[in-house]
Amino acid sequence: MSDCCSVNAKIGAAPAVMACPVNGARSKQVDMLTVKSLVRQLPLGMPDTQYYFCDASDCEVAYFASDPEAPRFRREDLVVRVGAKETTDPIPVCYCFGFTRQDIWDEIWRTGKSSVAERIAAEVGAGRCACEVKNPTGKCCLGDVTRAAKERMSGAMRFIKGERASDEY
Ligand SMILES: [Zn+2]
Repeated sequence: MSDCCSVNAKIGAAPAVMACPVNGARSKQVDMLTVKSLVRQLPLGMPDTQYYFCDASDCEVAYFASDPEAPRFRREDLVVRVGAKETTDPIPVCYCFGFTRQDIWDEIWRTGKSSVAERIAAEVGAGRCACEVKNPTGKCCLGDVTRAAKERMSGAMRFIKGERASDEY
């Protein structure tokens, strides 16, 4: 589990990216361990197949398989809220240490910057993350954390300059 945040290219028969059968969004591979960890109740006789994660916010499907016969899992089948699909708070960003988008925004509001990515990176460096079994994407959240902070910072800057911010305050 200590290498769950490292990027390791997988060589297998299944394509690296597949279109979601429901909305056609390009979806990346997710390990079976992630699917098994995050789906609340697994059906009996799950086939051994490659699963994919659809991150589209307008699609109810979270996991689908390259095998069209394999069961699909919708976002409400998961034990956590799927941050990429949620549009209302709380929107989880980091699943290992429980940071939400609001936590990141609150810190920026209070201090003008975000230290969340740095704090998570320290935990990751010490091997204390568990993205593989906690994050629906199965991947490290650092990119999402950085993006959430950047979007907020640029929104705040526009606000300060008197321009209309792209999102609601
Ligand atoms: Zn989809």
